[in-house]
Amino acid sequence: MKLIDRFNRTHNYLRISLTDKCNYNCIYCNPNKLNDKFGKMNLLSFEELLRVIEIFAGELEFKKFRFTGGEPLIRRDVFKFFGDVGKLKSIYGFKTGITTNGSLLKGRVGELKNSGVDSLNISLDSLNKNKFLSITQKDEADRILNVIDEAIENGYSPVKVNAVIIKGINDGEILNFVDYFKDLDVNIRFIEFMPFGSNTWQRNGFISYKEIKNLVEEKYSLSVLSSDKNSVAKDYQMDNFPAKVSFISSISENFCSTCNRVRISSTGKFRLCLFSEGKHEINFKELFQKKYSNEDIVNELSEAIKHKWEKHPEPEELSEMMANNMMTIGG
Ligand code: SAM
Repeated sequence: MKLIDRFNRTHNYLRISLTDKCNYNCIYCNPNKLNDKFGKMNLLSFEELLRVIEIFAGELEFKKFRFTGGEPLIRRDVFKFFGDVGKLKSIYGFKTGITTNGSLLKGRVGELKNSGVDSLNISLDSLNKNKFLSITQKDEADRILNVIDEAIENGYSPVKVNAVIIKGINDGEILNFVDYFKDLDVNIRFIEFMPFGSNTWQRNGFISYKEIKNLVEEKYSLSVLSSDKNSVAKDYQMDNFPAKVSFISSISENFCSTCNRVRISSTGKFRLCLFSEGKHEINFKELFQKKYSNEDIVNELSEAIKHKWEKHPEPEELSEMMANNMMTIGG
């Protein structure tokens, strides 16, 4: 059975937040330093998460799972968990990925690869040591660049490097990113800055993917790559260089009409959209505690998906919606 909504979108991709906490305090993601406020959380255990994955893969034909957060790698024994997920991959034939700031991957990328994680997205918003420090509050630019090299050496092909571009913060570095990575097996992904409650998003701090792309094309030529129909990225191959460049236009050209993604928060809340307020959504912790069978849970999910909206609201409205931030939904 497939998870299909009112707009005939089939969902086959689950993004799982492993924790809300992060070892970085990025100014655009966690301006209020929420880490200090979380306290002890009732996270889905790894056993519970394995059951979640079995339900989505086994009952609902999901083909992709991505682990994110917060920072997914701060969770204790997470590599063992990835290995356990890897065993399920061979039964159900899905793919896995993680989105990470990379800080805890130093010397461990080989282990990650061996555990069966297929794709690796590393966030890096500046190549400049001081700028990186001012964005993340950590002096780790060189460390992350070394981890990207380690990822290439360990066969992540390509290594996806995510850079959120914010006017007045790092828009002056767009060409530096391309210059730096152009000769490597890297997919540089420029992400439009998205508004979340209290992240100080403003129209005049926003730079659209078209503006970013124009800047890149002032120096380099790009050839369009055919992407998967559900891809959130507009993908390009750099002419005469191995690197790829992608643009993620969540705001200026949303990709809601082809959305195939649903989410689960670290405490087990099922979320229909990164921006949804959680009104009709269910909680896996509760369903497990009430001893729901897999069949009951599939019924709940089939009911919940009917409430997915056609598209998310406009940016100004999103920035008013205090319910959301990337850390607690899982970016
Ligand atoms: N800690 C991990 C990391 O740094 O990749 C995973 C979680 S983080 C929330 C996932 C991604 O969301 C990162 O690439 C981050 O840059 C991006 N992100 C966070 N806030 C954002 C925003 N307001 N607009 C666009 N992207 C954002």
